[in-house]
Amino acid sequence: LQDEEFKSGVFVKFPDGRMAFGGINGLNTFDPKEVLDFNYSPETFITKLLVNNIQILPNDESKILVHSIEMTKSINLNHLQDILTLEFASLDFNAPNKNKYRYQLRGAQEKWVELNNNNSVTFVKLPADKYIFRLQGSNSQGIWNEKITELEINILPPWWKTWWAYLTYIFIALTGVWAYFQFSLNRSKLQQELAFEKREADRVRDLDLQKSQLYMNMTHEFRTPLTIILGMAQQIGDNPKGNVKEGVNMIVRNGQNLLNLINKMLNLSKLESGKMILDMEEGDIVHFIRIIVESFRSYASNKEILLHFLPEIDELYISFDKDKVEQVLSNIISNAYKFTPQKGHIYISIKKIEDEITISIKDTGRGIPSDDLERVFDRFYQVDNSTTRHYEGTGIGLALSKELVKLMNGTLTAQSPPVGARLGTEFILTLPILEVANNLEKLGPNQKTPPVSALDGPTITPKYYEHQGETIDIENREHASEDNTPLILLVEDNMDVLKYTASCLTDYRLIVAYNGQEGFEQATEFIPDLIISDVMMPIMDGFELCQKVKLDQRTNHIPVIILTARADFESKLEGLGIGANAYLPKPFERKELLLNIKNILDLRNSLKHYYQLKLNLNDTKEAKTESAHETVPEDEFVLKIRELIELNLSNSDLNVEMLAKFVFLSHSQLGRKLDAITGLSPNKFIRYIRLNKAKEYLSNEELSITAIAFDCGFNDPSYFSRLFKSETGLSPMEWREQKSA
Ligand code: ATP
Ligand code: MG
Repeated sequence: LQDEEFKSGVFVKFPDGRMAFGGINGLNTFDPKEVLDFNYSPETFITKLLVNNIQILPNDESKILVHSIEMTKSINLNHLQDILTLEFASLDFNAPNKNKYRYQLRGAQEKWVELNNNNSVTFVKLPADKYIFRLQGSNSQGIWNEKITELEINILPPWWKTWWAYLTYIFIALTGVWAYFQFSLNRSKLQQELAFEKREADRVRDLDLQKSQLYMNMTHEFRTPLTIILGMAQQIGDNPKGNVKEGVNMIVRNGQNLLNLINKMLNLSKLESGKMILDMEEGDIVHFIRIIVESFRSYASNKEILLHFLPEIDELYISFDKDKVEQVLSNIISNAYKFTPQKGHIYISIKKIEDEITISIKDTGRGIPSDDLERVFDRFYQVDNSTTRHYEGTGIGLALSKELVKLMNGTLTAQSPPVGARLGTEFILTLPILEVANNLEKLGPNQKTPPVSALDGPTITPKYYEHQGETIDIENREHASEDNTPLILLVEDNMDVLKYTASCLTDYRLIVAYNGQEGFEQATEFIPDLIISDVMMPIMDGFELCQKVKLDQRTNHIPVIILTARADFESKLEGLGIGANAYLPKPFERKELLLNIKNILDLRNSLKHYYQLKLNLNDTKEAKTESAHETVPEDEFVLKIRELIELNLSNSDLNVEMLAKFVFLSHSQLGRKLDAITGLSPNKFIRYIRLNKAKEYLSNEELSITAIAFDCGFNDPSYFSRLFKSETGLSPMEWREQKSA
C-alpha cells in the first residue's frame, strides 16, 4: 500500500468520479461523493434563559429554574415576566457558524419559524396560556436533526384573571344585582311610605282648608240673615209706623234661612254619629214629590226657569221617610235653581224600574266639571268657593243628601252633562220600593188619601232665588233730586241686605249695583260721593272693587266703606290696606253706619271748604283762618288742574273741554270730580284761578290793568273789570289802591 507520502502529480480521476492518488508504495482511491453525503446532524440545546433581559440561573431569586436550563423541561412565568429570551447552540463544531435553527411555538402558532444561524429568540408579552417551544437545529450542510428539543412554557394569568378571580367577579356581580334589587324594592317601599305621608299631609291640609272655608262660609251665611233680622227689628222698633209688613217678612224669611242652616248642620252631625233613624210612613210618593215640585214652582216664578214635572207613573204607594226624601229633593232642586240661569229648564222625572224608584232632576245650567263630579258630595265642597261666586251656600247640602240617601238604602249620583245633553247636570236618586202593608192596598182608590204630612207640603223655604231678576225702586232716587244731597253708591248682591241697607240711608240719594263689576261701572259714570260695598259678591268682589276705584283717577277721590260678614281682623286689614276708608262688620248697627258715612262726608266737606277758602276772593277775614288748614296737602288732582290752568293763563281759549282732555276725563266726569273735591264747577275754578292771579299782578304797580287782563286770559278788559268787581266788591283799580294804602 502506499507509503506515508503522496507523490505530487500522481493522481487520476475515474469516470465514475472516484479519484486515485499515488504514493511511493501504491495508491489510494477516494470517492468525493461519500464525503458530501455527510449525514450527521448535531443535537441542539437551549443554553440560556433571559427574562426581562436578565439571565436566569438555577435557584436564583426569580425561582424560575431549579436545574440548569439544559435539563429543564418546563418553566412557569407570571404576567410580569413578559419578555422572554432563549439562546441555544448545537453540538456540531464542524462549522458552527453554518449551523441553522428553527423553532415552533405550539399554542401560539403551528408554523416553523426559520432563524437561519441566529441562535436566540425573544418573545414579548405572550398571553397567559400553556405553550411548547420546539427547537430544531441543522448541521453546516443544512441537514435537520431528527431530535427536537422541547421546553414547556407556562405563562400564568395575573391574579385578576384566574378562575377564582372570575368566580369572585360573578359572585360580586350577583351580589350587586341582588343588592340593587333589594334596594329598589326598599326604595319603592320608601317611596310608597313617603307618598303615603305626603297624601296624609295633603289630606290634613285639605281638611284644614275646608274647615276654614267652612268657617268663612258659615259666618257669611249666619251674619247676612242676622244683619237683616237685627237691623229690621230695630227699625221697626224705632219707627213702628213704617213699612212693618215688609220688614217682618224679611225677618221671617231670614230667620227661616238660619233655622234651615242649623237643621242641616245638626242633621249632618246626627247622621255622622249614627243617631239618625228612619221614620217610615206609607203614602203615594209620586204625589208627595209633586207637592214638593209645585212648592218650588211658586217660589221660583220670578226667576224665569221652566220647571217640568214628568212622572212616568201616576201613583206609587210605598213606605218611605217623608222628611228625608223631602230634604234630599229640596236640596237637589234648589241647587238646580241656583246653578241654572234665567230661561233655563229643570226636568224632574220619576220612573219605576223593577223594585226601585228612580227620580231624576236634570237642569240646563252651568254643569259640574268632571273633576268635581265626585267631590260635590264631599262635605263643604263647592266647585266655586271664591269670594266672587254667584251663589250662597255652605256646601253641606249634597253631603247631607248623600248620607240621607244611604240611610234609606238608595243611591244618589250625578252626571254632567247628562247623557245626550250638551250642558247641565243630572242628579239621579234611586230608592228601594218597600211594599206597603196590605190594609192600604185593600182600600178603594177613592179612599187612598195621601197621609196628612204629605199634604202639608215641604217645610223648607227655598231661599236662593226669590229675588233673582227683581230690582228695587231705590234706583230712582238718583234722579229724584239734583240738589246737594250726597249721592251714595250701594254695591250688594243680597237683595234683603240691599233693601235693609237702603232703608237705613233714606237721607241720601242712592244708586245701587249688584256686583263689583256693575259697581265700578256705576262709580265711573256717576262719580258718587261715597261707595258702600259688600265683600262676597259675584263677578268682582268688594276688595277688587275698592282697589279699582282707588286706582282709577276718575274715582280715586271717592271714599269707600266696606260692609262685610268677613269680620276677621285680617280681612279688615286687607280692606283698609287697599284704601277702604272704613270697614264695618255685619251685622252692622244702623247708627254706626250712619255716623261713619257722616264723618267721611264731613271730612270731604271740610276739604271742599278749604279749597273754596283758598280761592275765595272777597272774604279776606276768613281767608286768614285758612292757615289752620295749611297742613292739609292739596289734593293731587286739584294741584294738577291748577297747574294746567296757570300754565295756560294768558290763553283766553282755555275751557273746560280742553282741561278735561288734558286729564283724560270726559267733560262731565271732570265736572263731577272737581265738584266732589272742591265744590266748584270747572268754569268757576278756572275763573277763580285767573282772578287770583290778577290780584297778584295788581299789587305790582307797574302793570296796566289792560295788560293784567290779557295776561290772565281775559280778552275784554272791561269784562275783566266787571267780573273782578262782582267777585270782590271792588274794581281792579280800587283793589290796587286799597292794597297799596
Ligand atoms: P248648601 O246646599 O249647603 O246651601 P251648596 O248648594 O253650595 O250649599 P251642595 O248642595 O252640597 O252645596 O253642592 C255642592 C256644590 O256642587 C255646589 O256648590 C255647586 O258647586 C255644585 N252643584 C251642585 N248642584 C249643581 C248643579 N245642579 N249644577 C251645577 N253645580 C252644582
Ligand atoms: Mg245646595
